[in-house]
Amino acid sequence: MSEFRIKLAPPDIDAAMLKQLPGCFANGAADPGKSLRRFEQAICQRSGVTQALAVNSGTSALHLALLALGVNPGDEVLCPAFTFVATINAISYVGAIPIIVDSERDTWNMDPGIVEDILKSRVASNKKPAALLLAHTYGMPAKVAQVVALCQKYEIPVIEDAAGSLGARYEGQFLGTFGDVGILSFNYNKIITTGGGGMLLTNRADIKEKAAYLATQARSRAPYYVHRDVGYNYQMNGLAAELGASQIHLLDERIKKKRTIFNNYYRTLQTYDFIAFQEEQPGSCSNRWLTTLIFDRPDIAGSLKKYLEENSIEARHLWNPMHRQPVFKHHPQYINGTADWLFKHGLALPSGTNLSEGQQAEIIDLIRQFLKT
Ligand SMILES: *Cc1c(COP(=O)(O)O)cnc(C)c1O
Repeated sequence: MSEFRIKLAPPDIDAAMLKQLPGCFANGAADPGKSLRRFEQAICQRSGVTQALAVNSGTSALHLALLALGVNPGDEVLCPAFTFVATINAISYVGAIPIIVDSERDTWNMDPGIVEDILKSRVASNKKPAALLLAHTYGMPAKVAQVVALCQKYEIPVIEDAAGSLGARYEGQFLGTFGDVGILSFNYNKIITTGGGGMLLTNRADIKEKAAYLATQARSRAPYYVHRDVGYNYQMNGLAAELGASQIHLLDERIKKKRTIFNNYYRTLQTYDFIAFQEEQPGSCSNRWLTTLIFDRPDIAGSLKKYLEENSIEARHLWNPMHRQPVFKHHPQYINGTADWLFKHGLALPSGTNLSEGQQAEIIDLIRQFLKT
């Protein structure tokens, strides 16, 4: 089952883009710094932040964000139970302790009510967390204004993992720009891919500067090599930056396509009373990176996934929550059952921007057939 006829979210690179590649590669190879600045500026312009740093993955950007905020070994960092593992991995890289927080049912993201309880009790006992890492799952805005307001009250920095949420908005503002730092990913399956890459977003010049320093082997300003800190090789390569910059103008079109794909699934499947979708809340605009849905009946998600795979169509289970992972399950956790429920009943359907109408109609027909049996 390695090759699917219809994949979940394959890269959308067309012939016209490939034609530009030799030029891109020539620029990116000749002067990578210039290519990086071009991509960073394009992202700043689109997202409205003043500072951006192009790096080699979203995960590196998360690691740098925690380092730049000065999170130390032994510090506590709040993070979601329901997210991709990179979010919590980054917290472990800096030796901090993840405090795993469950989701609310409206957006499937971190529950502000639980956050408030944790912050209150931790602050009261003089154990203020060093940061909160908020993720926007599958492109859907979390209750970001609420979470940021709580953190501001207790003066706790916020990092937004907007890895899959490029172009999604809350009250018109880009995700990844609400906290002290935000990150994006340009991995293969994201809405814009550079074949692997990430971006750190911030309005704080000090954070950008520190992250850029650490991302390039922590080289001090001197006519020869001097290193006062342990650094990393996290910079984006010039070729990837060219590829990214050359796609920014396609973002709106891609979001429109993703939202159309979602609407087609929604329109045809919401009539089943046991199917639920990740719905937008007032003020939210998801980029619909992946269409995800819940079959609130035992055993459907897994058997439907198998059925689609037999027809060479890829579907995926939603994330297995972080408090269930053998490597993280011993960390402090505040669980209400939502992430477990999402994992048990949820499925992600093919949502690539190159999915044809015919292919999507075929998928929907297969799902209907399956549900009849
Ligand atoms: C894709 C993704 C990441 C990781 O990004 P990479 O560029 O693959 O390192 C992190 N968090 C979330 C929520 C993601 O979807």
